[in-house]
Amino acid sequence: MESILDKVVQSHTLCEKEILYLLETKDTKKLFSAADEIRKKYSGDEVHLRALIEFSNYCKQNCLYCGLRRDNSHVTRYRVEPQDIIESARKAKNYGYKTIVLQSGEDSYYTVERMAKIISGIKDFDFVVTLSIGEKTFEEYKAYRDAGADRYLLRIETTDETLYNKLNPGMSLKNRMLCIENIKKLGYEVGSGIIAGLPGQTLESIAKDIVYLKSIPVDMAGIGPFIYHPDTPIENIKGDFFELSLKIITILRLLMPDINIPATTAMDTLNKEGRLIALQSGANVIMPSITETVYRKYYEIYPGKVCLGATPADCRYCTENKIKSINRRISTGKGFHIRQSGL
Ligand code: SAM
Ligand code: SF4
Repeated sequence: MESILDKVVQSHTLCEKEILYLLETKDTKKLFSAADEIRKKYSGDEVHLRALIEFSNYCKQNCLYCGLRRDNSHVTRYRVEPQDIIESARKAKNYGYKTIVLQSGEDSYYTVERMAKIISGIKDFDFVVTLSIGEKTFEEYKAYRDAGADRYLLRIETTDETLYNKLNPGMSLKNRMLCIENIKKLGYEVGSGIIAGLPGQTLESIAKDIVYLKSIPVDMAGIGPFIYHPDTPIENIKGDFFELSLKIITILRLLMPDINIPATTAMDTLNKEGRLIALQSGANVIMPSITETVYRKYYEIYPGKVCLGATPADCRYCTENKIKSINRRISTGKGFHIRQSGL
């Protein structure tokens, strides 16, 4: 353990076997505090806030793990009109946000023209715009980029091809990887990541996922625990996916000291202090929701999502208080990934 930690702290490299060793370790205290130190050294105590609008829960895909999947008929579907999305962003300016993250299912209602209008409308308020709207063609990604989008978040979910293709019917790992390549080629900041604890996933495959994320290399890595949704056809397996997610976050931080790593909302579903613990184990970003309260309960990717009854203002102030409670502070910058030499 000591020698692997020394190596990664010095060189920020590990082979797959060493990553697997860290994923299996019970000595998590040392691992988490090493990542916290590296976070402090490279990103400082600032936490970047990204305001998240979940603007549509329609989805043409059928991922077996996701509550928004096409075949889930128990969901009340909603869409926010382009003008209202822009209005939400305008209001978010008053809370001091610098980035708007637009997230949705894969919803064809939002044509390239509509998305371009939304993106440029939000850019008019001098926001950084992140998109998380799924798999698109190169031309579509290019059109969003031309309209001003800066970052794109597309999790690889798992690099185990058999598992990926089984969990994502009608989709393929090859195309997911191609999408990520295209996003990179177009000059977006690339966000990717995995779900930790998918049924059928092994620690060996997670070690490969980590190697993949470093090979891109990502500018942002989002890791969330798998949370079973009863209206999905996936198996309900038990495991400590909270701790597993923390381990993955810490290993990514040790391997890529200067990237952005969010403390994901799903962490709070499994542990009341989940996002704070993640912030103290390598993470440096939080994505408070600015989705209007009326829609929140319908964006049920998994059950038990926090802040369902909260307003955008509640989430802003609660987040600030949480960050202050661990002696960290909200960044006043735009929070781009600044690649430091030699990394
Ligand atoms: N549709 C877009 C996509 O799939 O990239 C963006 C929205 S999707 C709801 C955002 C993320 O939710 C997915 O990338 C996936 O990792 C996560 N997710 C879906 N179902 C989940 C579950 N049951 N537990 C944890 N995370 C889940
Ligand atoms: Fe749709 Fe994304 Fe959910 Fe898959 S994970 S069903 S693409 S919203």
